[in-house]
Amino acid sequence: MTHTHCPYCSLQCGMTLTGRRTLEVQAWPEFPVNEGGLCRKGWTAAGLRGHRERLTTPLVRDRSTGELVAASWDTALDVVASGVRDLQAAHGPDAVAVFGGGGLTNEKAYLLGKLARVALGTSQIDYNGRWCMSSAASASNQAFGLDRGLPFPLADLEQTDVCVLVGSNLAETMPPAARHLDRLRERGGTVVVVDPRRTATADRADLVLQPVPGTDLPLALGVLHLLDAAGAVDEDYVAARTTGFDDVRRSVASWWPERVERVSGVAAEQLRALATLLAGAGTVTVLTARGAEQHTQGTATVQAWINVALALGMCGKPHAGYGCLTGQGNGQGGREHGQKADQLPGYRMIDDPAAREHVAGVWGVPAASLPGRGRSAHELLDALGTDTGPRALLVHGSNIVVSAPNATHVTERLAALDLLVVADIVLSETAAMADVVLPVTQWAEESGTMTNLEGRVVLRQQAVPPPAGVRSDLEVIAALASRLGSTAAFPSDPEEVFAELARASAGGRADYAGITYDRIRAEHGVFWPCPTPEHPGTPRLFADAFATADGRARFVAVEHVGAAEQPDDAYPLHLTTGRVLAQYQSGAQTRRVRALPDDGVFVELHPMLAARVGARDGEAVVVTTRRGELRAPARVVATIRPDTVFVPFHWVGANRLTNDALDPTSGMPEFKVCAAAVRT
Ligand code: SF4
Repeated sequence: MTHTHCPYCSLQCGMTLTGRRTLEVQAWPEFPVNEGGLCRKGWTAAGLRGHRERLTTPLVRDRSTGELVAASWDTALDVVASGVRDLQAAHGPDAVAVFGGGGLTNEKAYLLGKLARVALGTSQIDYNGRWCMSSAASASNQAFGLDRGLPFPLADLEQTDVCVLVGSNLAETMPPAARHLDRLRERGGTVVVVDPRRTATADRADLVLQPVPGTDLPLALGVLHLLDAAGAVDEDYVAARTTGFDDVRRSVASWWPERVERVSGVAAEQLRALATLLAGAGTVTVLTARGAEQHTQGTATVQAWINVALALGMCGKPHAGYGCLTGQGNGQGGREHGQKADQLPGYRMIDDPAAREHVAGVWGVPAASLPGRGRSAHELLDALGTDTGPRALLVHGSNIVVSAPNATHVTERLAALDLLVVADIVLSETAAMADVVLPVTQWAEESGTMTNLEGRVVLRQQAVPPPAGVRSDLEVIAALASRLGSTAAFPSDPEEVFAELARASAGGRADYAGITYDRIRAEHGVFWPCPTPEHPGTPRLFADAFATADGRARFVAVEHVGAAEQPDDAYPLHLTTGRVLAQYQSGAQTRRVRALPDDGVFVELHPMLAARVGARDGEAVVVTTRRGELRAPARVVATIRPDTVFVPFHWVGANRLTNDALDPTSGMPEFKVCAAAVRT
C-alpha cells in the first residue's frame, strides 16, 4: 500500500495505491486537501498503466524512410547529443531550446533548468505553465511581492463570508474542492461566479454574472467604483498596509454601472448586487483562474480584482484575500525551480547578480557562465527554425501540438526544426513529429514532489516498478548532461535531486531549505516558505506584512483596453475555450484511460445562435477564426451567452482557432477569447 497523489490537477488529491500487477486506486481519507474524495479522473488513474500505446523503447526517425524506428537508449541519446553538439557548434548555444511542463515534478523542473543553463548553456528554456497562470503570477508579484497561488489553505474558503470566483469552473476542474463552497453556503456564506458560461460551479452560486469574454477587468473596475461610492473602502487598512490607492480611486471614478453594462453585457443591477454583497461582508475571498487570466490583459485583469480585495482590506486577513486556482498538477512548483525563461531556483530572477552567485555556487560553476533571460514560451515556439531562433528543441512533459495557441502555426515551427526530441509516456501528437522519442516513467512508477495550488509540497511515492525499457526523466537528463561533457553533478535519484533543489532555493522567495521527504510524509505536506528544519512551514502568508520592500501591498491602476480581436462582420462572435470533467489538459493521458468517456471535441452554442445559423444539436457545425477552422458536433445549450461559442481544448482543434496575441507582462496568450464565426 502506497500513499501518493493524483497524476493530474493542481489539487494533488491524496490517494492510496494497492496491488502491483493490477494497480488499484483507493481513498486516503487522512490527507486533508481532499479528505478521501477524488474526481472521476483520480479514481480511474490506474488506467494510465499498461496501456497498449505505452512506449517502452526509444524511437529514432529513419532519415531515408521518414519513419520512427525502435532504437537502443545508447543510440537514441547519441543522436540527441551529437545533434545538439553540431547545432551549437554551428549556431551558438541558443540554437538548442528546452520546453518543460507544469506537470513535471519539482525535481524534474529543477534538473531540466540546470540542464539548460549548465550542460547546454542555453538561455532558451520555458514551459507550458506560462500558459497556465503566468498572468496571476505577474499580478501577485507586483501587488504582494510574491506569487503563491493561494496564500492560504483551501479549507479557509469555508469560513469566508463571500467567495467570488472569476473565470473558474472549480466544480468540474477540481470537484473535491467544491465541498468547500458547499460548506461555506451551509454556514450562510455566499458564492458568486463570474463566467460567460453557466457552469456546474455556477449551479452552486448565489449570484452568477455572465460577462462578454474578455471583460472581467471592467467588471472589477465597476465593482470598485461602487464600493468607493458606498464608503465601503477600508480606509484604515488602505492607509496602513498598502500604497497607490489614490491612482486606483481616480481610475475607477468613471466606471459607473451603466458603462460597465455597455462593455461587459452584465446588467447594472447585477453589478450593484455584487457590490452590496461585498460591502456588507466581514470576509471576502476573490479567486481567479484561467477564464480571467488567459488574456492579453490577463495581468491587468487579475490586478483589478486584487485591487477590489485590497480596497476591502481583505488580503492578509484570516479567511479572506485573493488567490489563484492553479490548473496543472505542478503549475506552482513548476515555475519555482528554474524552468522559466526569467527565473532560477528558489523563484529567483535570473538577472539578479546575487541570485546568480547563489545558484551558481550550488551548481559548482562560475556565475558568469550562466546564460541570461530567454524567450517566453510562445515567443520561443514562434522563433523555432527561424534564422535567429533555436534549431533544436527538447520537450519534457508537454504536448505542444494540442496545447499551444494558434497551433497550426506552432506545428509548422516544430516541423522547421533540425532536431525535435520528445520525452513522453506515449506517442503524443507532439512526440509523433519528433526525430527522437524517449520513453519515460510516469506517476506511480517514480517518486517526486509536487507543489499544489496552496503552496503545499507533497510527495508522490513510487508504487510499482516501471516497465522494462523506460527511464525516468531525471535519468534521461543526467545521461544527456554526461554525454554533453558537463562536469557538474546531475543526480538522478529524486530524493538527492530534491536535497540539492532545497539548497538552491535557500534564501529565495520560494524557500524549500527546511523541507525533506521525511517531513512531507510525516506532515501531510509542508507549505513553503520553510527555511529551516525547525520551521513549521507557512500555510498563511501576509498576515503581518507583504513581501514587498516596504511590506505594503501595491495597488496598481489599470485601464480596460479589451481583447486583441473584437467581433466584426466576418467574425461576429466570441470564441472561448476550456475543460470538461473527464479530460485533463491536452488529453494525452486521459484520452487513453478507457474508463473515462472520450466524446471528442464539440462546439457549445446558445439556442438563439443555433437557430440563426441553422445548427441542430448533435449535428456538425464549422467554427472559423482568422487562424483556422474546426468542424465538430454542436451542443446547443441555454447556459452560454448567445454571442459566444465554446470549444474544449483536450483534442486537436480548439487551439487551431485560438489567438496567440500575448499579455506583454506575463507572456500569456489570449486563449480565452477571439473573434469567430459559425456556420453549418
Ligand atoms: Fe483531485 Fe484533480 Fe486528480 Fe481530480 S484530477 S482527483 S480533482 S487531483
